[in-house]
Amino acid sequence: MGLRLGQPLDAPVVQVQAVLDHGPERVHRTLGLKQEPRQIAHETAHGSGAFGGLLQPRAGAQLTLEPFLGHRFGHHPDVEIGIEAAAHALDHHHGLLQQDELGPGLHVEDLGVLEELAEELRGRGCTSRIGFFLHTPFPSPEIFAAIPGQKRLGNALMVYDVVGFQTCSDRDNFRRYVAASLDGEPLHGDRMAAQGETTTASVFPIGIDATAFRKLAEAESSKGPILPDLGEGMKTIIGVDRLDYTKGLPERLRAFEQLLEEFPEHRGKVRLVQIAPPTREILPVYQEIREDVERLVGRINGRFGDLRWTPVTYIHHGVPQDILTRLYREAAVGLVTPLRDGMNLVAKEYIAAQAPQDPGVLVLSRFAGAAEQLREALLINPHDINEMARALDRALTMPRQERWARHNRLWQRIETYDLANWRDSFIQSFAESDTDPVKLFSKKLGAA
Ligand code: UDP
Repeated sequence: MGLRLGQPLDAPVVQVQAVLDHGPERVHRTLGLKQEPRQIAHETAHGSGAFGGLLQPRAGAQLTLEPFLGHRFGHHPDVEIGIEAAAHALDHHHGLLQQDELGPGLHVEDLGVLEELAEELRGRGCTSRIGFFLHTPFPSPEIFAAIPGQKRLGNALMVYDVVGFQTCSDRDNFRRYVAASLDGEPLHGDRMAAQGETTTASVFPIGIDATAFRKLAEAESSKGPILPDLGEGMKTIIGVDRLDYTKGLPERLRAFEQLLEEFPEHRGKVRLVQIAPPTREILPVYQEIREDVERLVGRINGRFGDLRWTPVTYIHHGVPQDILTRLYREAAVGLVTPLRDGMNLVAKEYIAAQAPQDPGVLVLSRFAGAAEQLREALLINPHDINEMARALDRALTMPRQERWARHNRLWQRIETYDLANWRDSFIQSFAESDTDPVKLFSKKLGAA
């Protein structure tokens, strides 16, 4: 089925994807996207300061709350304009609202609008199946229950025909939350019921286009090394993260410092290249993390560096992916240590970019969603500086045969569970989800 979409709208537009069937090929279309409501919601949440206690950057599990708190402040005028514009776009292409003409359904990914958008769509007579995919972790039920208005939010999730999660642990948290706070009960398979609604809560770990990424890395690496030659035996550890407090950058730098302290044989023989492009720098919490990171980089370089060797190369701007693939491939260690992360694609990109016969080693946080799939990485607790330092030493000295064996299994998994697999399995679940009558969403919201 072909569908022509209108010109991009002037107002900020939420990211609503229509999934169109073109025979065997499924196509995602984004119905206009000018500004990310998630970004606005984040800023509004932080700007309010009302939840300072819950937003403590170092508070471990509570990190997972932040996106949901952002959602609660989704009354920012730009978000409302975005929802209105998306609804207009859907009206304009009326077929999108009707299940018969649409094919599998609509796919919503933005927390900032999950509640209002479903209400708007159902209010306008949308009978298509609607799926919501949560990119961020779903916290434990006790933590989720601390969100003001959490029942309304929980009920809103139940309105979707399918709710997708990155990991089994996120899905299980959601199921436990629905059972404990919404009086829900399991049905067959991943289906569950609560408050007169039913939904399918399933796991769809997001992947990368692994084969394309590997090919890009091969082509790019044939251009030769990108990092300056610091002599025979110099090894590189690579970190690539937005400068965000969930990414555990200060802890990572302290672990690298501890490596040099505890294992002096690595001094002058290893460098950490940390790419850390800015994110939401206007907010004080991000200015603090930046100052923290830059102070630590200065301290490590001043303490251990000499005229020939600078231990940490820190780059505070974005790097294009062709360059990233070369950096990944040259690095003996990929260091991915978020305190909490929905998935973490950098971990998968690092694996895809390795030379299969002589691959590097991934050191990965247990609290990244990717850890559920990437079990042959060296898994660490990102709060434990000593454990991270020892894992770095182990990665830097790991025999080739072990590196090869671990990488081989990791590669097979990211190749199987790639981006196409994620997209197709999510969409397939729409088709397989039970057909509920049109869900009476707005009444349910009033009950919270
Ligand atoms: N990225 C990039 N250039 C940079 C830094 C990051 O292209 O300078 C890309 C990186 O290759 C990855 C994405 O940004 O595809 C980051 O995704 P991830 O899931 O690791 O973290 P997120 O930023 O979504 O929390």
